[in-house]
Amino acid sequence: MRCERCDGEVNERYRFCPWCAAPLRTKLVEHFAAHPLIERQTVALRVSRYLTDQRHTRFSIWNADGAAAAISLDEVEAARLSRFIGAGEHAVGKSGPGLRASAQALITELKSVARR
Ligand SMILES: [Zn+2]
Repeated sequence: MRCERCDGEVNERYRFCPWCAAPLRTKLVEHFAAHPLIERQTVALRVSRYLTDQRHTRFSIWNADGAAAAISLDEVEAARLSRFIGAGEHAVGKSGPGLRASAQALITELKSVARR
C-alpha cells in the first residue's frame, strides 16, 4: 500500500509511515493488564487513540462482562497524562534505593583504589 501524504511504499502492518511519519490508521488501540494483586474484577484498561479530525484518546475499563466505564481526553489532557506518568517513572529511577546503593558502592570502590 502507499502513504496518502507522501505516496511512499508502506507495509500494511505499520501504524505510521516510515518516510513521513503520517498515521496510516485512524484508530490505534492498546490493552493494559490490571494489577493482579490489587484489581479483583477489572481485567484491563483499553486505550484507543482516534487520529481523526476530532483527535482524542478514549480510556475504557474492562471487566469480564465488557466495558464498565469510559472517558475520552482531548489531545492536551492526554499529553498531560503522558507527562504525569513519565515524570513518576523518572523520579523513581533517580531517587530509588537501587541507584543510591550503586552510587555508594562506586564511591567506596573509588576510595579504596585511591588509598592503594
Ligand atoms: Zn508518508
